[in-house]
Amino acid sequence: MKILITGGAGFIGSALVRHLVEHRDHELLIIDKLTYSGNRQSIVSALATQRCALAETDICDGPAVAQAFTSFQPHAVMHLAAESHVDRSIDGPAEFIRTNVMGTFELLQAARDYFENAPAEVQSGFRLLNVSTDEVYGDLADSEAYFTETTAYAPSSPYSASKASADHLVRAWSRTYGLPILITNCSNNYGHYQFPEKFIPHMILNALAGKPLPVYGDGSNIRDWLYVDDHVRALYTVLTRGKPGETYNIGGNNELENIAVVQSICECIKDELQQPSDFHQLIEFVADRKGHDQRYAIDASKIRTELGWTPAESFATGLRKTVQWYLHNQAWWQQILNGSYRLERLGR
Ligand code: NAD
Repeated sequence: MKILITGGAGFIGSALVRHLVEHRDHELLIIDKLTYSGNRQSIVSALATQRCALAETDICDGPAVAQAFTSFQPHAVMHLAAESHVDRSIDGPAEFIRTNVMGTFELLQAARDYFENAPAEVQSGFRLLNVSTDEVYGDLADSEAYFTETTAYAPSSPYSASKASADHLVRAWSRTYGLPILITNCSNNYGHYQFPEKFIPHMILNALAGKPLPVYGDGSNIRDWLYVDDHVRALYTVLTRGKPGETYNIGGNNELENIAVVQSICECIKDELQQPSDFHQLIEFVADRKGHDQRYAIDASKIRTELGWTPAESFATGLRKTVQWYLHNQAWWQQILNGSYRLERLGR
């Protein structure tokens, strides 16, 4: 199978690319603009094979995206390219509307045109998987409630509103034009190669540097954490076994308050470094994020029962792997912290 993957140089996209190159024999074309969060170093081993290529393309550039479809002739598309950081969306929403809404529109137009003119054997198996988030559902006030595939959309931030818009476009292109689509809505991911500004790597790297560990509000906000490799296995399962037109929620059943996550990181680093240091004393409560959702929790029973997917990692095992990875791969995050990963790109 030939799979076109957008956003394949980002955190989840690169985990997907590495997984497919290691465990499957598909041919991959990555479309990625290499924004601040895209990193060629995260996919360097995949690019070294004959089965993976990178097109440095903006998904908002319709003709370039259409050209990628024509030249690559994919059997499937996995759409992950996005602006993904909630805090950045609050400070500057325009780029989120451009990439997440307009970019998805351009991708859908190119996919539709390609699909309608494709030979019957390509048409019959063609799928476009839109990788979305549980944040489109808003937040849960009731501590017993869970997001299911039929929960009404109620996004709170510019990020989640732009992702919700993208989901609506994808469903409309299925209903109106017959494009065979799938949508996944996943909870918070963590793991190796995650950009240092995100919650878990930010805490790990600050703790290692002896800097404050800033926790929003009183730290009681609850997120449902999933290890990134479990997410990419779920995405491949949905792509290959999901029913066209359907939505699948993906989550790890690891609901934790933010403060509990930070405390676990402190414990884990202490263990790994075998140091008596008390990283807990670095925790600082800071002014809450605007519009901060209180609780997300996913009911993932549909993907578990219908497609047989289950996560392999608990939060404890996944967090330990993550902390170990950041300890042993300092070159990867140092070049981001000192900005040299972008200089390397400019100089190329
Ligand atoms: P990321 O920010 O790490 O990666 C995004 C990638 O998209 C980067 O490689 C970036 O260069 C690329 N990109 C951005 N704008 C582009 C454009 N205009 N054209 C082409 N490429 C562009 O994000 P991530 O955490 O890997 O998330 C990937 C997808 O998964 C997103 O759609 C996100 O909404 C979704 N998601 C993320 C999480 C999570 O916890 N990280 C959870 C659920 C869903």
